[in-house]
Amino acid sequence: MHVETLEVGLFASNCHLVSNANGETLVIDPGDDASRIIETLRNRNLKVVYYLITHGHVDHVSALAEVAAAIPAPIAMHPTDAEWAFSPVNAMPPYYDAPKAPPSIERDFAEDKEWTDAGFRYRVIFTPGHAPGHVSLYFENEKTLFPGDVLFKGSIGRLDLPGGNVKDMERSLQRLMELPDETKVYPGHGPATTIGDERRTNPFLRPGALG
Ligand SMILES: [Zn+2]
Ligand SMILES: [Zn+2]
Repeated sequence: MHVETLEVGLFASNCHLVSNANGETLVIDPGDDASRIIETLRNRNLKVVYYLITHGHVDHVSALAEVAAAIPAPIAMHPTDAEWAFSPVNAMPPYYDAPKAPPSIERDFAEDKEWTDAGFRYRVIFTPGHAPGHVSLYFENEKTLFPGDVLFKGSIGRLDLPGGNVKDMERSLQRLMELPDETKVYPGHGPATTIGDERRTNPFLRPGALG
């Protein structure tokens, strides 16, 4: 598994390009800077197999329609977030208009379901709290987690956005912390980390930290 992370847009969101040895690629969260994502995929000769969305926030989906139109491949996201992600409630003036909707969402991500794309088997872990339809993607064979905006290096996702919920977030973080220490973590913003490093040092994972 080769992971290339592009930092895109006004909120420095991470768009992860996850490739196998043949260049078959999963694009996680094409959040902005569509032309840069398209150019990178073409320059590297990467073949997109699936677009995978961790959650509906504008900074994670605003380039989706444009990138998927230029480089067609099916799209997967949780139905709860697909409901509002491409509507005016997801606009963030003055920074972002409502994201353009792709023609269709081919796959509904549902809790604990396993999928295999580009030869990678991964499990969908339902992790609401930061957004109501947020999922984390766990690649057990590669010991790699994409937690979107649930878990960051030294921090966690905001809880004050519409649909945010403290209790859900506590449960979601607990579920991620059941993963092995050596699990590599590629968050939706900021640098990569590991489950073990976060377990040891992240202040938001201490008991009662979220109130
Ligand atoms: Zn978010
Ligand atoms: Zn974000």
